[in-house]
Amino acid sequence: MAARDVIADLRELAKLTSSEHGAQRLAWGPVWRDARQWFNGKLSAIGITPEIDAAGNSWATLRGQSDRTVIVGSHLDSVPNGGWLDGALGMLAGLEALRMFSGQRPPVTLKVVDWADEEGARFSRSLLGSSAASGSLNVDDVEHLEDRTGVRLVDALRENGVELSRMHESQKYLKAINAKAYLELHIEQGPVLEAAGQSAGVVIGTFGVERHLLRFVGQAAHSGSTPIPMRRDALLAAAESALAFREIARTHTTPQARVVCTVGTVKVEPGIVTAVPGVCEISLDQRALDAAVLAEMLAEARAASWRVAAENNVTVEWKRIWRIEPRPFDPQLIRLCEQSVREVTGEAPHLPSGPLHDAAEMVPHMPVVMMFAYSSNGLSHCKEEDTPEDHLENAIAAFLRLIQKVVNA
Ligand SMILES: [Zn+2]
Repeated sequence: MAARDVIADLRELAKLTSSEHGAQRLAWGPVWRDARQWFNGKLSAIGITPEIDAAGNSWATLRGQSDRTVIVGSHLDSVPNGGWLDGALGMLAGLEALRMFSGQRPPVTLKVVDWADEEGARFSRSLLGSSAASGSLNVDDVEHLEDRTGVRLVDALRENGVELSRMHESQKYLKAINAKAYLELHIEQGPVLEAAGQSAGVVIGTFGVERHLLRFVGQAAHSGSTPIPMRRDALLAAAESALAFREIARTHTTPQARVVCTVGTVKVEPGIVTAVPGVCEISLDQRALDAAVLAEMLAEARAASWRVAAENNVTVEWKRIWRIEPRPFDPQLIRLCEQSVREVTGEAPHLPSGPLHDAAEMVPHMPVVMMFAYSSNGLSHCKEEDTPEDHLENAIAAFLRLIQKVVNA
């Protein structure tokens, strides 16, 4: 059975590229190169030699009757001590699709792409290969990057035959493809499908993100001598704001649309047990699938922080760290994805993706959809990452059905 073959391949790859701490396929390193070589061996068994574009993305092509092309994408790289499914599941499902059609001339061409450095685990820039191909990579933003041991990104790329200054030429490769659709299967990396007892889900898009740093400034003062009504406590203003942000996320959450607001860091000055905090800095990460909702959540968060600051007699300043607009997926592909999942499991829950994926980079260029597979305990980027085998089989079977439907549509 096709899904069982994919699982056997996944186990073989895990055995070859993991230590007792998990997967070690860090992009641009020797284990990642081993993984690619292993994958190329599987391709050569069906007579396919992949091409590498200017960004190091590896493209395996099965020519069909027309140059209209269905692209199946994912990544072989992992974080250090990563799991056996993140990225690899999508790649090996893609390999199985190539096997499924090999020896035939399908109505359209099929390409399976292994995006280079999806994780960004070594140089802190994720989606490196796919953003180069899509045209959203700014070389000035990454040319200074170094890994923890001081190796420069430029040199790590060169070691793999990739010139940073020429990575943008991968856009030409992508543009030359007469793309009909981009499909990606990935583990959910969250708890939603598990809670619903569902093997697979239809991803309707990737969240837009608004990420800010908020700096509350009051007055540091002696904890013993300053009466409560006379304090200008920056920490309390930040804390009340954080509670208000949770309320904002609650108000905008509907059964159809989940949104999130997260305060993930807090820094207090002077940080002394006997001092009223004079300065407090917190981060705020807001995510939603609907751009208008995200904008509203941001406006409400600003208003809440100003109100709370005034009540606490402190000031607050906002600084944007990063933003990306939501990337909704293609309605027609969403329908095909839903049919495929329903045919295998009887039900097809829809969910947005909180994490970003290479698929998001393809949205401006072609119709895109993703399918998520059940993640045990919602865990990922660790050796505990897993999916029970029956759920995994269902998800793979549903995804192969989706490929078949899109190829024949
Ligand atoms: Zn991944």
